[in-house]
Amino acid sequence: MESVLVVGAGYMGSGIGQVCAQAGYQVHLMDVKTEALDKARSEIQWSLGRLGSKELLKDSPQTIFERITLEKDFNSAARVQWVIEAALETIDLKLEIFKELDRLAPPETPLASNSSFIPPTRIAQATTHPERVLGLHFFGPVPLMGLVEVIKGEKTSPEVFEQGVNFAKSLGKTPVRVNKDVPGFVMNRIFSAAFREAVDLVADGVATPEDIDTGMELGYGWNVGPFVIADNSGLDTQVIIGQTMTSLGLDNMVSHSDLIQQMVKDGRLGRKTGKGFYRYTPEGKRLPWQSDSPK
Ligand code: NAD
Repeated sequence: MESVLVVGAGYMGSGIGQVCAQAGYQVHLMDVKTEALDKARSEIQWSLGRLGSKELLKDSPQTIFERITLEKDFNSAARVQWVIEAALETIDLKLEIFKELDRLAPPETPLASNSSFIPPTRIAQATTHPERVLGLHFFGPVPLMGLVEVIKGEKTSPEVFEQGVNFAKSLGKTPVRVNKDVPGFVMNRIFSAAFREAVDLVADGVATPEDIDTGMELGYGWNVGPFVIADNSGLDTQVIIGQTMTSLGLDNMVSHSDLIQQMVKDGRLGRKTGKGFYRYTPEGKRLPWQSDSPK
């Protein structure tokens, strides 16, 4: 059975680990924090239970879960066929992780990053084999979203790029080829431009998040609006993404208001804390944010 190491067991890493296990891969899901691994375990079990109850799984939730091993170090990089990094979106951390992965993994093992913005060319600079470094950009919630951007760095070999396309297909996802690794790739550049504008409109009091989301759904056929997407992905992650975009020269795609920073300071991180642009019941139902909502 082929195996995969997923580095980082947060929102994205746990979802990536889960879909790999669903597709039959043996998964090593690693994180430096025990709490993150504990949370990943319960979230994967919850998600598999839900998918199983809707008869959307090929194997039983238990069989799938047993393919996942939770770990606290990178050592399995030496034995797996794929490595996917989904740790925090900071360049220095990714460089540090890829330097270590490059040391441990045999030169033919592809090393992918799930980074939202950082070009694989930049990440590959930490490695001695840049030809095996590429981007595999999943979308959250990973078990439900069908897209993976496959990103070619300047030095990614054509073979590794095609392996990335086939790997995404093997997970039941639809790959989109990004042939040149501009920061933010394709989808996040488009989303960030829309989200920057949406945040500025809310910060200026022009419209509410709920009305903007409704407008994008009914006017442009988006499945969900930008504020639902941001709450799902985490407003703390959006702040880090904003800092990373600025450091990559994409300042024009970041809102100049401090609305999101202030929300994060107030504990409004999105769905994960039960409050963001919307508020959420303990069962996960989304409700409009009202001025009399509990702070
Ligand atoms: P997260 O904060 O939920 O998870 C990140 C995890 O990385 C944490 O559990 C943290 O403990 C762990 N970590 C930190 N340092 C580590 C290390 N040295 N080794 C191993 N693990 C380490 O973040 P997330 O939302 O899952 O984002 C992860 C990556 O995926 C980022 O690069 C982000 O840009 C990208 N991404 C996020 C989304 C989204 O919607 N949130 C979508 C696509 C891509």
